[in-house]
Amino acid sequence: MTTKTVAASQVQVLKTKLNAAIESKSLLEEDFSAQSSMLIQFINKLSQVSKGINLKLDNRLAQLRALLTKSAPIADLEVKIAEISKLLQTHTVTNEQNITRLHEQFNNAGQSLQKINGLPNDLRRQLRTLLKETQSTKDSLIQYIPLLSQLLALYDTSLRAKVDIPAGGLLSANLQTTKNNDSTNESSSNVNSVLIEQVSTCLTKLHLSTQHTKELLEINKKLLNDTTNDDVLKHFIEIFDVIVADLQNERDSAKSFLNNLSETLTTVQSAVKKTLSTCKEAQHTNDEINERLQEQLLEMTGTVKKAMSLDQVKVDINGKLKNIAQTLEEKTTFEQQNQQALASQLNDMAKKVEKLEEQSQEFEAKLAEQQRKSMQDALTKLSNRAAFDAYFTQSLVRFHHKPFDLSLIVIDIDDFKNINDTYGHTAGDKTLQVIANTIQKKVSKDAFVARYGGEEFVLIYTHQTQTALVKELNLINKSIARLPFKFKSNKVSITLSIGATHITKEDNIHTAFERADQAMYQAKAKGKNQVIYSK
Ligand code: GH3
Ligand code: MG
Ligand code: MG
Repeated sequence: MTTKTVAASQVQVLKTKLNAAIESKSLLEEDFSAQSSMLIQFINKLSQVSKGINLKLDNRLAQLRALLTKSAPIADLEVKIAEISKLLQTHTVTNEQNITRLHEQFNNAGQSLQKINGLPNDLRRQLRTLLKETQSTKDSLIQYIPLLSQLLALYDTSLRAKVDIPAGGLLSANLQTTKNNDSTNESSSNVNSVLIEQVSTCLTKLHLSTQHTKELLEINKKLLNDTTNDDVLKHFIEIFDVIVADLQNERDSAKSFLNNLSETLTTVQSAVKKTLSTCKEAQHTNDEINERLQEQLLEMTGTVKKAMSLDQVKVDINGKLKNIAQTLEEKTTFEQQNQQALASQLNDMAKKVEKLEEQSQEFEAKLAEQQRKSMQDALTKLSNRAAFDAYFTQSLVRFHHKPFDLSLIVIDIDDFKNINDTYGHTAGDKTLQVIANTIQKKVSKDAFVARYGGEEFVLIYTHQTQTALVKELNLINKSIARLPFKFKSNKVSITLSIGATHITKEDNIHTAFERADQAMYQAKAKGKNQVIYSK
């Protein structure tokens, strides 16, 4: 073999080796790029999963992704990776704290829900299972998501079961809770009317000034025609405004009375002080004049004693008498002036006291009027429930002291709801006024009549036997039934159910009322429009 051929073959070997090396380098490069794109994808996914957990972590992961795509030197990657791993470490700690807190909150919320009374049994069972499942802490926040969503669903069901939330919203929901249990199927507008009626009844018990009472009755009327919750709320606020305005008026008038009182007292006090000091001054001046008179008299006596002749006495005494007369005149003038000053001061005082008396009389009248109103029903002007309670209690005391014919009558208008429902609440109100008036006119002079509430009235008769009483009640019943009511050109007859009883020695307020009330219910049961007497 020649040197040339040897060299050529070596070159060939080297070439092959070089080619192999180039091939394996490109393979390595392909491998690297495949692996780094896998890594980029992985980091992409990782950053998506952890997105939002920590803003810094999000940033660093984005930077790492950028470095990888532009094949940055390993050293740069290492720096980023170190930062990320540090962030991940702190994140793990916070994560654990969050898990513990969430676990506690979850259990507390569950236990609170368990304590709510009246939850349906199956709901209670589900809640117990859920709480058992979360007795031990979970490893990650993610694990709590389905549990929390279950707990929220339980809360929602419980709230609906408790409040029975209808589609209409919270106001109707609250209103519904004020109804009895069997009312769950009723529509929300029906439910509203129950609450409104309660408010309406309360309003009639308020005792405001005439003007404000009128305003309240107007709002009340509107309230009863309202169909939407917004309207109802608006009118509730108007009611509050009227009540507040009335209280303010009341307070202002009491305040101005008290101001006047205190002003007058101050004036009287200073006038008295002035009078006293004037008296003192006058006393002083008077003393001085008296002293002077005394001296002048003494002088005169001295003059007489020392006088040598009658003529001289005459002259001297004349002079002295003149002085005395002058002093006496001074004294009279002074006394007159003094008396005038005193009289005018007293006059001033009297005027002020008189004014004060007038004011206090006005105030007393106002108080008496308020007292009367607090015993009067605003709509019918009859005595109200409070007045009835007081009167009936007093009558019972008298009866137990010395028995007499004392009877109690409960009257309820028949089918009154129909009047309201068919012809409106205003027609209902007018009807109540007419019936109240008629009863008041028809009863014997000494009978006590009161509106007990709603469409119910009570009467108390003293000294009326059973026969006479039943006869009179039947007459009243007939008069009412004959009243020519006309609504929207419909003639309507309104009737009463009346229950009556006499008080016995064994009775107290409750037993007597119960018996009359039961008698009234018997009248209803027997077809209404009648009087039932119960012994
Ligand atoms: P019953 O013959 O059984 O007594 O039937 P009723 O419809 O009279 O009795 P119910 O107790 O069902 O209804 C009484 C009605 O009286 C309901 C309420 O709207 C009405 N009412 C109560 N107070 C007032 C009021 O001050 N003004 C008006 N307009 N209506 C009232
Ligand atoms: Mg009734
Ligand atoms: Mg009735």
